[in-house]
Amino acid sequence: MYIDGLDLPYYNIPSNPANYGGYRALSFIEYIVIHFTGNNGDTDTGNGSYFGRTAVGVGSHLFIDNDSCTQSIPFDRIAFHCETKGMKFKCDCRNVNSIGVEMCSTKINGQYVIPKETMLNTIKVVKYLMQRFNIPAERVIRHYDVCGKLCPEPWVRVASEWQEFKKLIQEENEMTEAQVREIAKKEANDMVYKYRDKVYNEISEVPEWGKATVQKLYDKGILKGTDKGLEISETLLRVLVINDRAGIYN
Ligand SMILES: [Zn+2]
Repeated sequence: MYIDGLDLPYYNIPSNPANYGGYRALSFIEYIVIHFTGNNGDTDTGNGSYFGRTAVGVGSHLFIDNDSCTQSIPFDRIAFHCETKGMKFKCDCRNVNSIGVEMCSTKINGQYVIPKETMLNTIKVVKYLMQRFNIPAERVIRHYDVCGKLCPEPWVRVASEWQEFKKLIQEENEMTEAQVREIAKKEANDMVYKYRDKVYNEISEVPEWGKATVQKLYDKGILKGTDKGLEISETLLRVLVINDRAGIYN
């Protein structure tokens, strides 16, 4: 699928919960931190699947490769991506106030490289995030700038590539104010398909069997989404679906 305003195929592959922490208000987000995966020829979806099934204790919100991006961790959750143990902070960027963006990498002649297409896609994603979360270019930084970790290594070793990237993310953004509002509205509507399970306090996708009922009740104004989704349990959802099948909401 695509996100409106982002001209890049987008996948959502939820991370294992061990790789991120609690909730935060979206207004906490002040920085975008750029990483690289340090792999040779990996993909965004491959990383999404790996972090989905593996409890690593680290994770980033997004992965990007040469043809798509994958969301692993929702923006309202704190991802464990830039507070590297044993290193000293160089600024006030932390996991709690930043979004982690990982670029997939390749190796050429024994050295890591960020492929050109991957860099261009990262520019698209970062410009989108800057606009959406109102983050200026000065607050788009490398993991290296947070705490000295050699990440993304090719853009620490070749600083001119990083400077080029910084220049390109500041070029005129074609998205208008109206388009941004339209995206926000669409995302609010999409939230009707999310619900918070009261027992696990996890936000989940409404299962296929519940979507038609939820949509119907939403259209009739019986259910109302909040910015955190529908605050209902799966048990209640089952009752609503049974009632719906019995024709109670017709
Ligand atoms: Zn990193």
